Amino acid sequence: MNFDLTTEQLMIRKLVHEFAEEEVAPGVVERDRTKQFPRDIFQKLADIGLMGLPFPEKYGGAGADTISFAIVVEELSRVCGSTGITYSAHISLGGAPLNLFGSEEQKQRYLIPICLGESLGAFGLTEPNAGSDAGGTKTTAQLNNGEFVINGNKCFITNASYAKYIAITAITGEKAGKKEISAIIVPTNAKGFTVRNDYEKMGLHSSNTTELILEDVKVPQDNLLGQQGEGFKQFLITLDGGRIGIGAMAVGIAQGAYEKALAYAKQRQQFGKSLSAFQAIQFKLADMALKIELARNMVYKAAWLKDQGRPFSKEAAMCKLYASEMCMEVTSQAVQIHGGYGYMKDYHVERMMRDAKLLEIGEGTSEIQRMIISRSIGC
Ligand SMILES: Cc1cc2nc3c(=O)[nH]c(=O)nc-3n(C[C@H](O)[C@H](O)[C@H](O)COP(=O)(O)OP(=O)(O)OC[C@H]3O[C@@H](n4cnc5c(N)ncnc54)[C@H](O)[C@@H]3O)c2cc1C
Repeated sequence: MNFDLTTEQLMIRKLVHEFAEEEVAPGVVERDRTKQFPRDIFQKLADIGLMGLPFPEKYGGAGADTISFAIVVEELSRVCGSTGITYSAHISLGGAPLNLFGSEEQKQRYLIPICLGESLGAFGLTEPNAGSDAGGTKTTAQLNNGEFVINGNKCFITNASYAKYIAITAITGEKAGKKEISAIIVPTNAKGFTVRNDYEKMGLHSSNTTELILEDVKVPQDNLLGQQGEGFKQFLITLDGGRIGIGAMAVGIAQGAYEKALAYAKQRQQFGKSLSAFQAIQFKLADMALKIELARNMVYKAAWLKDQGRPFSKEAAMCKLYASEMCMEVTSQAVQIHGGYGYMKDYHVERMMRDAKLLEIGEGTSEIQRMIISRSIGC
């Protein structure tokens, strides 16, 4: 067993750590306040070749492994959760299904712009009445003279305002009395397609979360992603990979909050001593360091299994569940260590705590992760 990162992984960590400090951290409080999407940051990430990181070089990617992807998400999220989720969704929800299930022609047409950062990647699964129960999809795609005619609504979709194309799931028929769900690639500028960006969120303010309205949207039958009726299976596979991204985000946000809390505890004096001299504070910081380390190892293990081509669904669910709940706890303790200042926006940790909450909800809630783990242990 070897716990060392490779030279390439260490180089990526250093590159992205510096990028995050220099390009992402400045303005993070302001972006949280103004809810402004950081387009310039994603242009710069494209310029340094990170927007297609794990995808094959022939499509403009960098051919890197999943651990490297987790490292990038972690380092971006350490300073800005919104940048972390945008990047994670771009790769694991936007690019990954095209890479896994797309035809050669679809990869040329839709994956290359994602790898080059000309379009952000997005994935439209959730609907107003189909969240955890994603099979409850109501959106329909009726085949008519070689075209799908799509009608329905999607909600809470990350990145769609900046995506040229988006894969969505829809009912394409019925098989043995069961809904047949397929994934279809839809250009966001298609007639009848509206992308609405007006949610008022708790956190992740400078990430893009949208509603999709599809009214008689027509796309060629060739836009079917993979086989007809495989959409449900495809999104389960896609979400397995996405959960590694959410786990990595959680590790990054928690690491950022822990570093702020440690620095503050050393500098803040009460009762004639720095806070870090009190055992109650030392133990909080020790627990934070311990849990972050454990979550990071879980994320890397799930990523490693994926890279080995081995089953990783259980480990992805475990790392997502543990890391997101750990992140909520660590960010809350970071606010606690800052006392009243922690409740103020300038000290960053309250933003991190708000951003952390999404991690227990998106890409399968904590309850759903426990259901996946229960099934995988034979319950
Ligand atoms: C900021 C943000 C970004 C998102 N990005 C995307 C995206 O890019 N693409 C996309 O498709 N979706 C996206 N989502 C949607 C997200 O994946 C869903 O919100 C999530 O899966 C939960 O679905 P729901 O909101 O409908 O909650 P519900 O499914 O209604 O769940 C409500 C509560 O009931 C619990 N619950 C539900 N079923 C069970 C059960 N069987 N047993 C026990 N408890 C249960 C849940 O755990 C939860 O606590 C995003 C959401 C947010 C908030």
